[in-house]
Amino acid sequence: MRNEDGPRVAIIGGGATGLAAARRFRESDVAATIFEKESVLGGRMATRVIKSEGGAEGVFDSGAQYFFAHTKRFSEMTNYWVERGEAFEWGKGFHTARIGLREDDDPRYAAKRGFEAFAEIVGEGLDVERGREIVRLAPEGEGWTLEDATGETFRAEAAMLTAPVPLATALVDASGWSLPESIRTPLDKIKYDPCIAVLALLERESGVPEPGGVFVSGESVAWIADNKRKGVSPNGEAVTLLASSEFSRTYWDYADEEIAARLMDEAEPWTCNCAEKVEVVRWKYSQPYRFYEEPFAFVAHPAPLAIAGDAFVSPHVEGAVNSGFAAAERLIAQLGG
Ligand SMILES: Cc1cc2nc3c(=O)[nH]c(=O)nc-3n(C[C@H](O)[C@H](O)[C@H](O)COP(=O)(O)OP(=O)(O)OC[C@H]3O[C@@H](n4cnc5c(N)ncnc54)[C@H](O)[C@@H]3O)c2cc1C
Repeated sequence: MRNEDGPRVAIIGGGATGLAAARRFRESDVAATIFEKESVLGGRMATRVIKSEGGAEGVFDSGAQYFFAHTKRFSEMTNYWVERGEAFEWGKGFHTARIGLREDDDPRYAAKRGFEAFAEIVGEGLDVERGREIVRLAPEGEGWTLEDATGETFRAEAAMLTAPVPLATALVDASGWSLPESIRTPLDKIKYDPCIAVLALLERESGVPEPGGVFVSGESVAWIADNKRKGVSPNGEAVTLLASSEFSRTYWDYADEEIAARLMDEAEPWTCNCAEKVEVVRWKYSQPYRFYEEPFAFVAHPAPLAIAGDAFVSPHVEGAVNSGFAAAERLIAQLGG
């Protein structure tokens, strides 16, 4: 068993929620470790790179496309990253097919080198265990024992679960203990839309208007982003298509080629249907449409545990970060930090 002497808190998941929580623990000098099943940080703040034989390199935001900063603390944090040149204001609105550009006073922010790189920067200096899929989280003694997919175990006084809620509750079930009904019942009501993303490296410039995003509201395609126009893909014509939730549900099990062909066909007015290379990404839990009414769920017994994420109050990057902060503060208070 590793980590017999710490950390005090084990955070399962290195997306926006887990990263925000880990930074909050660090502010209070509470030792916390993120356990992330992937080799990269960011979760649904994800980026892919596709290279062509001809030397083009497309950088695609494949999950979150932009974020708002409405709440005080989150907008202070956003300003900090903007000043450091890692985040930027992408625009104050996008084109909507048939209506044209619709702007308001609300800045939409994006990350200069894509959201995954941004998550890595936010994660700098934090204690992160990558490639650690936690398959068991069991209360033992005065704390938690975590076990990863290789059978290695870790100890922590408190734990935070930040995976999409159906995965978090499945982990609890697989660990052989139960959450109180007052928490489990509302957690089971949380529902997420699936989303299929098609990433297309184009041979030519796209027709997506400035600043590089268009809401399509077609039968299949909901949103198209030109990552070059956005500023994250300087060396490749990289277009992200997000399918509607209806399309994503209906075509979830279809072959990638079929999905890509249907979406590219509908998106032709903006993408010239001239893709050199295409990849398909499936997000089973993209964004929740039914939420928990508090910023996090918390149990003190048998050992302190917080469950947090974008399904708590607000289904976005900003909501996830705020949930992570709030849950961390509750655990810090519980641990007497
Ligand atoms: C296609 C798409 C478009 C979106 N567009 C926007 C947008 O434009 N604006 C916006 O604000 N939001 C958008 N969102 C939503 C936004 O991405 C999420 O709200 C936010 O990123 C959620 O962060 P999170 O940390 O709560 O969850 P996640 O990002 O899902 O992080 C959870 C992490 O836990 C890890 N994990 C899961 N299980 C385990 C385990 N057992 N052990 C270890 N690690 C585990 C995962 O690998 C993941 O890294 C979009 C999402 C998608 C998919």
